[in-house]
Amino acid sequence: MPALVLATGNAGKVRELTALLARIPFEIRTLADYPPFVLPEESGDTYEGNALIKARATAAHTNELTLGDDSGIEVDALHGAPGVRSARFGGPGLDDKGRVAHLLRLIDHVPDGARGARFVCVMALVTPDGRETLVRGACEGRIARAPRGAGGFGYDPVFFYPPLGGTFGELSDEAKARVSHRGLAAAAAKAALASG
Ligand code: IMP
Repeated sequence: MPALVLATGNAGKVRELTALLARIPFEIRTLADYPPFVLPEESGDTYEGNALIKARATAAHTNELTLGDDSGIEVDALHGAPGVRSARFGGPGLDDKGRVAHLLRLIDHVPDGARGARFVCVMALVTPDGRETLVRGACEGRIARAPRGAGGFGYDPVFFYPPLGGTFGELSDEAKARVSHRGLAAAAAKAALASG
């Protein structure tokens, strides 16, 4: 089987991506399967740019097909922020809970009807000879007034998803993957891999 190397050093993402990419005819490898290597900084202004930075660097290092991803949450009342900067929102000293609290404070005055938000995920597939494919998944919801549920990570407890009547924090991993930005992007990446 040909290899597909995940261009991330984040153990949580490796786990989630491995599950999402199950049953494809590729041997999923991680950076741990190769000599030590530091991924470049996510210095792009777009999800596409950041996903490509990671996938290209990993393809050059491993000489294999790679998958890089980048994601974030866009809040309408903040004109699309934090977007590509979601992981660092509110400054480097905050953890997931702190970032959620920061977000809730910033839009405390915003009424329910104007709390729209979406999760976005872009995946880049890059071959060692430089062929590049980009796919994108997005998921629409709104920011809840308070966190609910202990599942997921990041902004999941305050991302209310109307079709299922709860936050992503209240969903199982499988239920989230069926509708989430990352699940949709992974489905598109699988389709791209299947069509060569
Ligand atoms: P990156 O893709 O590693 O740059 O991280 C994106 C950041 O966006 C994460 O650290 C989270 O804060 C947020 N994020 C992306 N996807 C999700 C998700 O599925 N649930 C909750 N937060 C997410």
